[in-house]
Amino acid sequence: MQNTVNFPSKRIFDLNDQYDVVVCGGGPAGIGTAVASARAGARTLLIEATSCLGGIMGNAHVSSFCASPGGPVFDELARRLLELDAAHWRVNPERFRPPGRLSFHPETARAIANEMVREAGVDTLRNTFASHAIHENGRIKGVIVATKSGLTEISSDVLVDCTADGDMAASAGASFQKGDPEDGRLQVCNFRWYGGGIDHEAFKQASITNEELTELFRGANRDGAIQPPSALFAQTRETFPFDRTEQKMILGNWELQGIDPTDPAQVSDALSECQLAALQIVRFCRRNLPGYENFRVEHFPTTLGTRESRRILGDYVLTREDVFEGHKFPDGVARAWFWIDFHDPPPGRTIPHGLEYVKKHQPPPDDWYEIPYRSLRPRDVEGMLVAGRCISCDRSALASLRVMPTCMYLGTAAGTAAALCVNENVTPGELEPEKVVAQLEKDRDIKPAFDNN
Ligand SMILES: Cc1cc2nc3c(=O)[nH]c(=O)nc-3n(C[C@H](O)[C@H](O)[C@H](O)COP(=O)(O)OP(=O)(O)OC[C@H]3O[C@@H](n4cnc5c(N)ncnc54)[C@H](O)[C@@H]3O)c2cc1C
Repeated sequence: MQNTVNFPSKRIFDLNDQYDVVVCGGGPAGIGTAVASARAGARTLLIEATSCLGGIMGNAHVSSFCASPGGPVFDELARRLLELDAAHWRVNPERFRPPGRLSFHPETARAIANEMVREAGVDTLRNTFASHAIHENGRIKGVIVATKSGLTEISSDVLVDCTADGDMAASAGASFQKGDPEDGRLQVCNFRWYGGGIDHEAFKQASITNEELTELFRGANRDGAIQPPSALFAQTRETFPFDRTEQKMILGNWELQGIDPTDPAQVSDALSECQLAALQIVRFCRRNLPGYENFRVEHFPTTLGTRESRRILGDYVLTREDVFEGHKFPDGVARAWFWIDFHDPPPGRTIPHGLEYVKKHQPPPDDWYEIPYRSLRPRDVEGMLVAGRCISCDRSALASLRVMPTCMYLGTAAGTAAALCVNENVTPGELEPEKVVAQLEKDRDIKPAFDNN
């Protein structure tokens, strides 16, 4: 393990600089962790790089919870969304397990996450980047954060890495895997944006053929009026955004390949190029397409939608077979049943996935798999837990467990475990996992949003 440079400790305004539990990353996993930890009595700080809690749930325009159990914190979030008419069930009996998927309003979900975190008594630091875990003799002692006041050290008994990319674990020297073992490929990222102001009826009335659209956009790309993002995946480049395979304009959800979410230059370029391309398309369509005279950008995402990066190696690596066989573990702290959903560039398997594929790539009907506590514990760093899509698993298991309810379930388990560590004055490695399992069972007092028993 490398040594970390220590910075002089500084107080940040009214915040303490000593916490029982510090959670880095405020996405579904971080929200679950922070709420569970604080409710169990641990003094908890949640650090989030952006201005809002929610992670991909709010930043990248993802607005539907896949059908898989989410644990008590998720169930409460779902209930509050439904009470405000900010969510509705989508049912497809062939494709989704009952009761279906839950579509939600992302802004309301972010606000409810904020409400739940505050009610639990969690302190939050937003617009704050968790830079490095602090460790001494192989034991995590806290975190160094970058704020408007400079670099600051915050101490914690337990640090929980919910950054999705395993930033904290990697900074402490934890071993990890990233991408396909054969060629390192990563699942594609998405740039989801919304445009508005289109008069669809006027466009329909103009009866422009697909051949005409092909030629129009071919010209725009040839002349440089429209420049597709360099990482664009699957769509026809020379007629972008008109896609010959789909025979339609793809405005609003572009897939990007070959981007490593831990490479800030690649991510910045992709975000910048996608915004530019969207503006070029808006200008071009306003000038050239009937019904598009008032076309405008309505929302850009604040982050790329990223599906895959570091998988921190723990005491147990959850596998594809565990998913298929519905494996249960004595230290199983979360259950899941979503299918193995790869959005993979070739030679991997990419969408669209037919129903047969979906059925073959999930646990047996009416069954589920469990995720053990050992997959949340980095094998070579003490004092830390990981939760969310950076836990210890193979690529295929990641493609199933990365959905938001499961990530929040994993966070809830990590927060519960972290608070138990504090109460019992033990490290995550010393904690008896059965106690986490028992506590989570006690906390299941709210009707589960997704459950089959
Ligand atoms: C395009 C796309 C579509 C998807 N569709 C669905 C869907 O329909 N349904 C579904 O259930 N799931 C879906 N998913 C999966 C799901 O959204 C994510 O896998 C899930 O949000 C991961 O949760 P997380 O908490 O681990 O990470 P994230 O949601 O990525 O949250 C991580 C948080 O940590 C913060 N952070 C990162 N690094 C740092 C740092 N160093 N310091 C401080 N903060 C940091 C980030 O700003 C972010 O807020 C989709 C994913 C993508 C990309």
